[in-house]
Amino acid sequence: MSVATDGDDDRKIHPTPEDLRREMVATVKRFVERDVEPVASELEHRDEYPHQLVATMKELGLFGATIPTHWGGLGLDTLTYAMMVEELCVGWMSLSGILNTHLMLAYVIRTFGSDRQRDEFLPGMARGDLRGALCLSEAHAGSDVQAIRTVGRRDGDDYVINGAKMWVTNARQGNLYALVVKTDPQADPPHKGMSLFIAPKGPGITVSRDIGKLGYKGVETCEVAFEDYRVPSANLLAGVEGHGMQHVLTGLEVGRINIAARAVGVARAAFERAIQYSQQRTTFGKPICEHQAVQLKLADMATKIDAARLLTHRAAELKDRGQRCDLEAGMAKLFASETCAEVALEAMRIHGGYGFSKEFPVERYYRDAPLMIIGEGTNEIQRTIIARQLVKKYPA
Ligand SMILES: Cc1cc2nc3c(=O)[nH]c(=O)nc-3n(C[C@H](O)[C@H](O)[C@H](O)COP(=O)(O)OP(=O)(O)OC[C@H]3O[C@@H](n4cnc5c(N)ncnc54)[C@H](O)[C@@H]3O)c2cc1C
Repeated sequence: MSVATDGDDDRKIHPTPEDLRREMVATVKRFVERDVEPVASELEHRDEYPHQLVATMKELGLFGATIPTHWGGLGLDTLTYAMMVEELCVGWMSLSGILNTHLMLAYVIRTFGSDRQRDEFLPGMARGDLRGALCLSEAHAGSDVQAIRTVGRRDGDDYVINGAKMWVTNARQGNLYALVVKTDPQADPPHKGMSLFIAPKGPGITVSRDIGKLGYKGVETCEVAFEDYRVPSANLLAGVEGHGMQHVLTGLEVGRINIAARAVGVARAAFERAIQYSQQRTTFGKPICEHQAVQLKLADMATKIDAARLLTHRAAELKDRGQRCDLEAGMAKLFASETCAEVALEAMRIHGGYGFSKEFPVERYYRDAPLMIIGEGTNEIQRTIIARQLVKKYPA
């Protein structure tokens, strides 16, 4: 990636983090305008995996976006990542899903992994040769994570895993799973018996079915079965049992920032389409943007999108300062996803009947928006997390 600056020789040689951020965001914007927007709706309607776009994302280094340069990544901070995800989702939300669980796995390996685990996995992940996915949810256990039933039993130098995971995004294209299991099913509380394995695809893993979805198409979300799947004990994250819940919750903070940024991107795309359309469409002798009922919608949409972006950037900046940000990431995810769903519906209303047709992209934004309300912890669960943190912050 070359970094353009405006004139200052020293800055050309030593680009500042702000230069890098600006350049990276501009690079993603160019990619979206040139490569993504012309094909996104077509691929989405066909529910077709975007191999060509993913190849370009690899070339741009996006699979290593937040992986430190020491392991071959771009070493970008979380704020830059959030801005980049917003741009990507202005084009097509599914593309950020291809990166999300991949970079969550990279984040927990970097944060909790041993030196050997970092050296073994991060370079391949940065190149996009190793592609991550998160195997956490099960058919009966999404919000209630501690109710998972997949079990890992120690056998010599391996663990033997049995069980089934549900909703695994990137299950087919991915080849390295963040696999959360119970290594002690009797533990009380249950999270003390949960562990996270860095699990390469291999014998004993079957991607058993693809789940048909309302939106978020093009990227696969699957059920995955584990039958006597053997993973080396060396792949137990941090080398100790019982910390899987902590590992995955820390990764989910980054995931929630991704979801909030995605929601800002989709909402922005819907708003931009709506404000353009409102100036072109005339009724009763004037553009509809001159009708007060439409103006009120546009004003509310833009205000809420800006507020959602500010919340998202605040959470990202806290993460970059190394602070816990579950309260702020939860607020950002909650507000941005609800805003996105609202804005997508308003954009559809502004388009009238055309908003309901497949010829305009607003129907896609409208179908993609609800995922952000459900994924990475439903908004009901977000509210309980936020409230718990608030009670801690404001003791009686
Ligand atoms: C398209 C898609 C992709 C996904 N990708 C992945 C992935 O890659 N990896 C992965 O592991 N998972 C993934 N998920 C799973 C996702 O995280 C779960 O669907 C989500 O956490 C909700 O769990 P659930 O579906 O079991 O709903 P449930 O937990 O059964 O919840 C049902 C309803 O009850 C509410 N509820 C539950 N408990 C409470 C409570 N205590 N208080 C108030 N309300 C409550 C919920 O908010 C919801 O409205 C994906 C899901 C989708 C739809």
